[in-house]
Amino acid sequence: MANTVNDAPVALERAVTAAIRAGHAWSVRRERPEAWAEIARMTGVIMRACGPGRGPATPAELVAALRRPLGTWLPGCDAAARDLVVLDGDDQLTDATFEIGCDYTAEVLAGQDDPGAGWLPGWRVHRAEQIEKAAFQALLAGGDEEYSRGRRFITEHPAGVLTELVAARSELGLPPLVPYGEIPGERQRDGSWWPCPVCRWPMRVRGAMVRCDFPRHEAVYTVSSAPPSLQPAGGARRAPKRRPADGAVCVDESVWRFIVVPGVVEVRLHDRIAALPGVRAELYPRKDLYDIRVTSAGDGTWEFTLDVKDYASARALARKLEERPIAADHLVLPRYRSDQAGELRRLLPGTGVSTEDQIYRRIRRVASSDGRSR
Ligand SMILES: [Zn+2]
Repeated sequence: MANTVNDAPVALERAVTAAIRAGHAWSVRRERPEAWAEIARMTGVIMRACGPGRGPATPAELVAALRRPLGTWLPGCDAAARDLVVLDGDDQLTDATFEIGCDYTAEVLAGQDDPGAGWLPGWRVHRAEQIEKAAFQALLAGGDEEYSRGRRFITEHPAGVLTELVAARSELGLPPLVPYGEIPGERQRDGSWWPCPVCRWPMRVRGAMVRCDFPRHEAVYTVSSAPPSLQPAGGARRAPKRRPADGAVCVDESVWRFIVVPGVVEVRLHDRIAALPGVRAELYPRKDLYDIRVTSAGDGTWEFTLDVKDYASARALARKLEERPIAADHLVLPRYRSDQAGELRRLLPGTGVSTEDQIYRRIRRVASSDGRSR
């Protein structure tokens, strides 16, 4: 059948983006009067994607559909989008939306003004490249080394006490980078907040649960009251200590999702490789031409260039790379995405695909054999 989303990845991407935007609008409809118009607009986008007589045809039908897996009503979903449920039982976006939804950020209103751009969270409107460009404007004018330090600073300091953050940044000689705002109300309980042990961004508080919005960080806790404190739930690591919300700030959701979440893996891998004897590792060299460059500390006879890619869907990643190939020799998958390696090698036959641990071991081998050959 022609003209289904299956034939056109862009149409699928647009439909999934529209579903997430409508879900977000529904979750804030009491506070944002613009939400109703947004849901109506996204219903139109979805109707065009589904084709006449198929899929939800009214805003009410769309909202009901958002509580079911996309694959049950949106034709042509790929493996990652098929099981995605956008709204949970409390009419809030599900955690999976934060993980998977970012693979599908398309312009839904091509060629028109986008009324959602003014009030929707950036990651539901803009692509990662746009968010990065805005965040690093101040660094692009400086030298390569300052860019690397600035980008690392944001990854390592996505939240904290404002005065301490400013002091730490000035000490590194960095200009103001991204805006920090107060800790949002949904990330506080009784004047306290808790950083995710993996990404350090404030975890979301809902009822008796406190969790990082990025499910792969496996940070899930229960909170007890007066004074509030956390206990690990379901295999989560040690609970972080509570921090006072007064005077504390954090980066916004888009910077967290597009810079901090992938940055955690990039910095971790860089630091691990940099600690190997005989190795020189650079983070974000040439203003992020690639994420990590590794060379022999001695004669420079060998080189690895690495780009870490953290996508929920291998297929969506392959599509992105066809549009915009990486400059690095090696595509590196975070440890929690190692199951994508086989599929990506099939989809991208010309690209070297490794997991964090595989590339680390390979570099260690090359470095220890004193750089005879790659
Ligand atoms: Zn986290």
